[in-house]
Amino acid sequence: MKKTTQIKLVFGDTTVNLRQFYKKIGNYCIEEKIKCPNFLAGVSLPEDIPYVNFLTEDEKYNAIVLNKNIKRADLFDYAVEAMSSEAYVIDNNGGILEAFYNDFTDMAEIYRTASTICEWLRIPCPQIIVSKNAPLNGCAYNTESGDETIWINIRQNDPIKEMYLTLAHELRHAWQHKYNNEKYFKNYKMYDENSSYDEKVAYYFQPAEIDAFAFSVCFMGTIDDNYPLVIPFNEPVIQINKRADEILNELEILGII
Ligand SMILES: [Zn+2]
Repeated sequence: MKKTTQIKLVFGDTTVNLRQFYKKIGNYCIEEKIKCPNFLAGVSLPEDIPYVNFLTEDEKYNAIVLNKNIKRADLFDYAVEAMSSEAYVIDNNGGILEAFYNDFTDMAEIYRTASTICEWLRIPCPQIIVSKNAPLNGCAYNTESGDETIWINIRQNDPIKEMYLTLAHELRHAWQHKYNNEKYFKNYKMYDENSSYDEKVAYYFQPAEIDAFAFSVCFMGTIDDNYPLVIPFNEPVIQINKRADEILNELEILGII
């Protein structure tokens, strides 16, 4: 029987703005031609262990867990050190990292893209998690502090542009939480696979969804003019395009695009 490393990962209770870190580490990995692993920051580890480097047996998935007691200014240096440290080898699909497992990684472009979008939106960059096992894409919001998004969950998808689209969509939800929480989430209803046709259509008509889809359309326009937005219902598309025009105007006024 294979031995599985048992370390429980507990995310810290404070949110960390990873914008600068993601930008630096993404650029660093691209310049150095290193495959960029997943970084999970703000995690509770024993005090004297700054990081743990995990690698699956098939060497496809590599994650570096960074202790929540590392100061933000030191994250990058520890991350670089951790990348050349000896890795714990774990089962391919299992154990502690199951929730985070993906096998596409290189995370460099995902991190750089997230950092750029967060700059556009003037939001702190949450933890970005790409996972094969995520049941849904999502944006987790810290209801206690009331103004921070904790992480963005993205299903591993092919092609990679599909993930950029989702990334832009979910980060826009983070923006909504930060700047217009009441407006967008007062009567928000979560997506439910088992709900009726009408309820599903109604989900896409919610202002938060129209706005998030519209923003992702605007963002994709900057990297691929012809990238199609595929949603399963036709009805909300007119609203999404209308809102996208408004957002494009705002981004132009801000000098972003
Ligand atoms: Zn959404």
